[in-house]
Amino acid sequence: MNREALDDLKQQIPLMGYLQAHHWHPARPLSRGRWMGLCPLHDDHKPSFLVDPNKDLFYCYGCGRGGDVIRFAELYHQVKFAEALVLLRHWRGTPLLHEAARYYRVQLQRHSEAVAYLLQRGIHSLALIEHMQIGYAPGGCLRGWLSPLSYSLPALCQAGLVTDAGYDAFVRRIVFPLEGNLYGRSISDSVPPHRFLPGSKGGLYLWQQAQSFPEVILVEGLFDYAVLWQAGFENITCSLGTHLNVQQFRQLCDRPRTVYVAFDADRNGSGQQAAQCLSQRLRERGITARPVSLPEGHDPNSFFVQGGDARQFQSLLEAARS
Ligand SMILES: [Zn+2]
Repeated sequence: MNREALDDLKQQIPLMGYLQAHHWHPARPLSRGRWMGLCPLHDDHKPSFLVDPNKDLFYCYGCGRGGDVIRFAELYHQVKFAEALVLLRHWRGTPLLHEAARYYRVQLQRHSEAVAYLLQRGIHSLALIEHMQIGYAPGGCLRGWLSPLSYSLPALCQAGLVTDAGYDAFVRRIVFPLEGNLYGRSISDSVPPHRFLPGSKGGLYLWQQAQSFPEVILVEGLFDYAVLWQAGFENITCSLGTHLNVQQFRQLCDRPRTVYVAFDADRNGSGQQAAQCLSQRLRERGITARPVSLPEGHDPNSFFVQGGDARQFQSLLEAARS
């Protein structure tokens, strides 16, 4: 990152906003717009932390530390400079993705082709659409919505929401918000079906909600997740592909549990092979892993779409136990 990019990052993340987002409260006003408050970096009992919002600098009279927002992120999160930049860039992008996802959610109800596509993929429950915060990107209008909210075109391009030429990146795609990313599934066959924004796909999908179950079902796609959740399986998560990243693998191994790996039963065997391979790696980490055999050519989504129900899926889980 060059000097200019660093300055841009700092300019886009005012120190005061960042501090307040990390539960810092200004306690006492000083001259020239400066504030004092308790120091978030040491055990402080009387306000010794000075913030100058005009210069975007802080200084603590207690622990003697001070600097800009990057320095604060380093100290607060106890990370090195490079990691602090990653955290800040990620933090900067989050409100923007949140806003974009909110816009896509509004569009879903306005576009019958999107609702028709969801129905065709077996998604009909409003509770599910709410749970997964499913939206729709019709294309050609995101900029018009976000620009008045003071998101600059370069910021939209950098997040990958808008192309360098200024067009929406997601066009005619069902959109699912992820942790720090968005996934868009095309509803037309003429373009690649899966698309993410640049950057990591994040951890396991809605992991916090599945984490506490002693038995967890892992699927590879969000439409698989959707039909299973809709059928009443709440102990479910999704890896967004058969290849788990380091964070996802660690999450599955974070306590003793049973993992049912319900990947696609591809005709060429690739899903089954990935499930076997992952199960083996999980067992090496002391996790009970059960690859689930779906009828050939099916994934959990098509299994339900073509008439399968919760009881039948439950039988597949039971069969995986033996
Ligand atoms: Zn201090």
